[in-house]
Amino acid sequence: MDDPREAIAESLRGIAETLRHHRDLGVREITLSRVPFPDPEDALREQERALQGCTRCKLCQSRTNIAFGSGSGRARLMVVGEGPGEEEDRQAVPFVGRAGQLLTRMLASVGFDRERDCYIANVVKCRPERNRNPEPDEVAACNPFLMAQLDTVQPLVILALGNFAAQTLLGTKEGITKLRGKPYDYRSIVLVPTFHPAFLLRNPGQEFKRMAWDDLKLARREFDRLTSSTPREA
Ligand code: URA
Repeated sequence: MDDPREAIAESLRGIAETLRHHRDLGVREITLSRVPFPDPEDALREQERALQGCTRCKLCQSRTNIAFGSGSGRARLMVVGEGPGEEEDRQAVPFVGRAGQLLTRMLASVGFDRERDCYIANVVKCRPERNRNPEPDEVAACNPFLMAQLDTVQPLVILALGNFAAQTLLGTKEGITKLRGKPYDYRSIVLVPTFHPAFLLRNPGQEFKRMAWDDLKLARREFDRLTSSTPREA
């Protein structure tokens, strides 16, 4: 997208879409007190605070804690997973269980420090019981919060982990095996889909590992290309 006017128009379309979505979900409050540009760390803390005690969907009945997000609000790479597991539910932090430990190693293998370089969130912020897939009404209820995280962090690259994150963000039913291996344009952000680390733990064969490694290198290349041409303001 060479014309900056097109980029602004795209961002405004994204904001309009998010506002309509909030309205349709019945969200009443709009926090405008910190506009136009709040510090992203403050904005994320405020979003997390506002979500405490959430009862917008039935996941609230079985969760222990809301695992909102972790990492840096200034990161240019955002990692999106499916939903918290048992350990995440206990600690209120995404990707801290076995899959999370593998994710940390996967990110490090291409030079990303998960705390410094990434912001990590899930499609739904509360654990689905027995780690079942989140249901459409649960995804819809949580979507404004994922959109708010995206709008706040404004990553250049999204690494979408597994079927659920990739399909939800890209609005497709195509499986991850078909989706992975190439970058997509998602609201002017480069989205790279790859296997979920939990899938890699369940399927330890070299073949999937190699494909995931290719995807991580692709994310790194896209990240380097975009960060060399898009400095972030102080
Ligand atoms: N799986 C996910 O998708 N997210 C987590 O936070 C943990 C496991």
